[in-house]
Amino acid sequence: MLEGMTSDELWTLSAFWALFAGFVAMIARSQGRSPVTWFMLSLVLSPLFGFLAVVLTAPRKGPAMTPPPCPRCGVERVSGQRHCPGCGLDLWADYDARRP
Ligand SMILES: [Zn+2]
Repeated sequence: MLEGMTSDELWTLSAFWALFAGFVAMIARSQGRSPVTWFMLSLVLSPLFGFLAVVLTAPRKGPAMTPPPCPRCGVERVSGQRHCPGCGLDLWADYDARRP
């Protein structure tokens, strides 16, 4: 596969390979994971594989995934749940605090 390539082309390929491996390491670090582990993984397997793996296995937690607490009783609720586990309020309907 590498036959017929000039040393310049090989160098460019290696540079991009390392660059993307570094990119994967940056993503891993932003997720609170080990950048060194992911850099080595991308370097050995392939940066494309490393990129897909780090994105697909991203830890799914954080403020964006947690819905706001119930507006009536303040109980924390699970995403996708229609009725509040604390007071049974219909969370999909617009809640008006002045209404009984
Ligand atoms: Zn409630």
